[in-house]
Amino acid sequence: MLRRALLGLSRSDKIKNLVVRLPVTSGVVARFVAGETVEDVVSATRRLVGAGLAVTIDHLGEDTLDRTQAERVTAAYLELLSRLDESALTRSAEVSLKLSAVGRALSQDGEKIALDNARRICQAADAAKTTVTLDMEDHTTTDSTLAVLSELRADFPDTGAVLQAYLHRTEADCRDLSGAGSRVRLCKGAYKEPESVAFQEPAEVDKSYVRCLKVLMAGRGYPMVATHDPRLIPIAQDLARRNRRMLDSWELQMLYGIRPTEQQRLATQGHTVRVYVPYGTDWYGYLVRRLAERPANLTFFARSLLSK
Ligand code: FAD
Repeated sequence: MLRRALLGLSRSDKIKNLVVRLPVTSGVVARFVAGETVEDVVSATRRLVGAGLAVTIDHLGEDTLDRTQAERVTAAYLELLSRLDESALTRSAEVSLKLSAVGRALSQDGEKIALDNARRICQAADAAKTTVTLDMEDHTTTDSTLAVLSELRADFPDTGAVLQAYLHRTEADCRDLSGAGSRVRLCKGAYKEPESVAFQEPAEVDKSYVRCLKVLMAGRGYPMVATHDPRLIPIAQDLARRNRRMLDSWELQMLYGIRPTEQQRLATQGHTVRVYVPYGTDWYGYLVRRLAERPANLTFFARSLLSK
């Protein structure tokens, strides 16, 4: 209930104007966001990789409504990839991309513009010997994201997908994307979705997550298990064992700032643990989704606002 209310409330301009005045260094923002600049994120990546973790980096921004902004975000990704390459970090660090950040929502030719920009980013990632994963946004964009993914995979077969266990359709999508070479990040899903398309009860979402995991683990692709859930992680480990998967044939993923001790513990056991690291000035939507996931974070958030 609270999660849905918060996701709804986050659309209020009044609330947004209050929150975006927080500096990125304030406690609650800094916990979830690595900083605003490319230097900030490269140095956070260096630290995580030094601690034995892998990384996927998100340049924050999802409400791109004009071409100049789409171009700016694309340029930011190209610069990021070049900086990761110069810093010899591309063996362990890739990038995550939201198609809405590179133009999909533009009224004219949005999907084509997003595809062209995503292709440029995939080319740069390929040249730097790393990969791109397409983040999944709300359900109205799922078909479009999967269509763009399929175009990109024709030239860049390593391009990763994200599937959300809360959607009724996802078990079938997992089947479609469980073939050899397919990299699929499975997450629960972070948007406010209607009953007609998504499970509403956490227990139903968890059951769907397990069904989807079974499909991915039994398939020939590379499952990326993105969850902090202490019950789902051992289930993923068990399914990997039953399907005789080696540790290098799947990975665990968690968000920057969430359960860092657990990230480290799993990496020490030999798992690839990839941390999703967001950076940039446009952190509002991302922050609200993190707060909505866990009411306990709200106290922390209220303290940051009061101490401003
Ligand atoms: P939950 O049931 O939410 O949490 C399980 C436990 O994890 C909690 O009990 C708590 O201990 C801990 N925890 C979870 N969230 C928090 C938090 N915010 N603060 C503190 N502790 C927390 N969603 C999308 O819709 N599209 C994407 O492209 C996408 N990409 C993602 C990439 C990665 C690497 C990860 C890890 C998540 C991604 N998500 C994405 C978000 C995801 O859908 C969930 O909203 C989020 O991961 C919380 O779900 P959970 O599986 O951790 O389970």
